[in-house]
Amino acid sequence: MSQAAILGGPPVRYRRFADRKTMGEAEERAAVEVIRSDVLSDFLGAGGDYFLGGAKVRGFEDKWCEMYGFKHGISVNSWTSGLVIAMGAVGVQPGDEVICPPYTMSASATAAIFYGGIPVFADIERETLCLDPADFERKITPRTRAVVVVHLLGRSANMDAIMEIARRHDVKVIEDAAQAPGVRYKGRPVGAIGDVGGFSLNFHKHIHCGEGGMLVTQSDELARRCQLIRNHGENAVSPEEVASTPNFFGGNYRLTELQSAIGIAQLDRLEGYLEARQRLAAHMARRLDDMPGLQTYMTDEGDDHAYYIFPIWYDAERVGMSRSLFVRSVLAELPEPRGFESTPLAEGYIKPLYLLEMFQQRRAMGRGSFPWAFAPESAPDYSKGLCPVAESMYERELILSPLVREPLSVEDIDDIADAMEKVLGQASEIVAKLGDDQDVTEVVTPIDVANSRGTT
Ligand SMILES: *Cc1c(COP(=O)(O)O)cnc(C)c1O
Repeated sequence: MSQAAILGGPPVRYRRFADRKTMGEAEERAAVEVIRSDVLSDFLGAGGDYFLGGAKVRGFEDKWCEMYGFKHGISVNSWTSGLVIAMGAVGVQPGDEVICPPYTMSASATAAIFYGGIPVFADIERETLCLDPADFERKITPRTRAVVVVHLLGRSANMDAIMEIARRHDVKVIEDAAQAPGVRYKGRPVGAIGDVGGFSLNFHKHIHCGEGGMLVTQSDELARRCQLIRNHGENAVSPEEVASTPNFFGGNYRLTELQSAIGIAQLDRLEGYLEARQRLAAHMARRLDDMPGLQTYMTDEGDDHAYYIFPIWYDAERVGMSRSLFVRSVLAELPEPRGFESTPLAEGYIKPLYLLEMFQQRRAMGRGSFPWAFAPESAPDYSKGLCPVAESMYERELILSPLVREPLSVEDIDDIADAMEKVLGQASEIVAKLGDDQDVTEVVTPIDVANSRGTT
């Protein structure tokens, strides 16, 4: 085999990987139809006929529910909005604690703060990268109102154990399935296994309409509360609801007719995307089977994986090379990424959220210690070392590929695997020539790779 590219040899591949193309004729037709109708949104922030939006908004919600068996869908203008609404709907109040894994997009944790809720972090499981039921239970206190369960990277969390613990302690369950649309846990679609949950429709997710989200729930009461908060509920509530609903006034979190029409067309593509990613991921996993030091975990029968991002667990000792040098060496073998979706490999995913300055300084709004001041006796721990599994994934173990996705082919995946195999075969030579003193504070995440395109 030729010399490693990072040592000056020829790379495995020069030709760029195909970009995703997300919008097609169906989306164009749908958008044009809405524009010609001149009704780009059909909401009014008042009770009555327009409170729940127009034909495309309702059509999009109904279609998603029909495809996956949810009772209620409530579309929203982002999944961050959806998480905030979910917090309100389950009744989070100032000083309540909301448990969340730290290894997720920040909104999973910060949504609680909009209602004065205090994020409390519980560790993840090594294999699923999702909430560890045992640590979740350890973090429950009399102040715990809700838990946010994130189906990270598209793999479902251990829902049976989590639901059993949550029900026993009367904790509401919000599922953040932003990265897991269409995913099943033991045959049941994620999103509404808990009390309320949902999906993101931002540009980087499996399907999208620019920005957007979809809340789902099996509960009539929670659906109504979500609808109130989505659209200025103060103008639509009955006297009984004001008396019985903790959080009813709302914002404007509405999705437009234009976005909903595009979303309807996008839904037709979702199952095809999932199949393509599962096929490519299975191929990648087979290739990695022969590579010591690189491990994958497959899901159990009845569980799907949406492969928002493909994860690889890295053992630096077995490879004889730091994760950072390995990733840089593999990147040198492959064409330069043009953005997040074309990033072949990156490290770490996301810095555990409690290490963000906001949690370190306990200050989210205003000049005081909001929302922590609501419950001084609560004092959750945000110190380094709090969630050792999440920290280890971030600092040492996890390698990610957002590139294992449509429209790539099995041959493309082989090139990525060949690049890894080539670097593994020359690990000692690369280390000898370049040295290897990785500083763990310099984790290069997929977002860093995307931001540095053109310079890597
Ligand atoms: C994308 C994402 C969000 C936020 O969704 P937006 O639609 O961008 O607001 C929240 N949680 C997770 C896990 C995500 O991946």
